[in-house]
Amino acid sequence: MRVLVVEDEAKLGVVLRDGLRRRGMGVDVASTGEEAVMRATATDYDLILLDVMLPGYDGFEVCRRLRASDVWSPTLMLTALDDVGDRVRGLDSGADDYLPKPFSFDELLARIRALIRRGSPPRPTVLTVGNLRLDPAERRVWRGEEELSLTAREFSMLELFMRHPGEVLSRFELLEHVWDDSYENRSNVIEVYVGYLREKLDRETIETVRGAGYRLRA
Ligand code: CA
Repeated sequence: MRVLVVEDEAKLGVVLRDGLRRRGMGVDVASTGEEAVMRATATDYDLILLDVMLPGYDGFEVCRRLRASDVWSPTLMLTALDDVGDRVRGLDSGADDYLPKPFSFDELLARIRALIRRGSPPRPTVLTVGNLRLDPAERRVWRGEEELSLTAREFSMLELFMRHPGEVLSRFELLEHVWDDSYENRSNVIEVYVGYLREKLDRETIETVRGAGYRLRA
């Protein structure tokens, strides 16, 4: 396992580097945001430990830049700021987990193990299919430059389609993921909502696959 530690406090950087090396990991240390971006785009790290408060780019900016450059190494943010807003910002910038300082080394190791188990598949914070763009954090969706106004249910349904572009989703799958058990009148609700989405998007983007369900054109 190869880990990048991004930490500007030299002492903590050394503690992390030595502690992880003792557990058999290969560890590089970057002390600025710019250096972190440079190293993480050059080497395919299995994990990035990312401090938030850094000289130059802060941790949020580092994370955004890496994800925008298609770098999906699991990223654990470390910060002294035990602040809900910061945690939300960190996760929405593309980080996978968050650990406030001071932390126990055992917990850090457990989180590292959990993140490495999940691997590094692409997990964009903003979904893009064709000319559609959907931001789950901001609950906004655009077609080209035009922002669309969707209800909460329409948004959920489009999000599900955009997470499975080109795949046929059955009525049952759509019901299961977009509605919950409190919804009783299930007879034609999917048809109705697909109709609403088509009115707001267009007639072609969501195709009917006869006898199977619906598919978002990839
Ligand atoms: Ca710092």
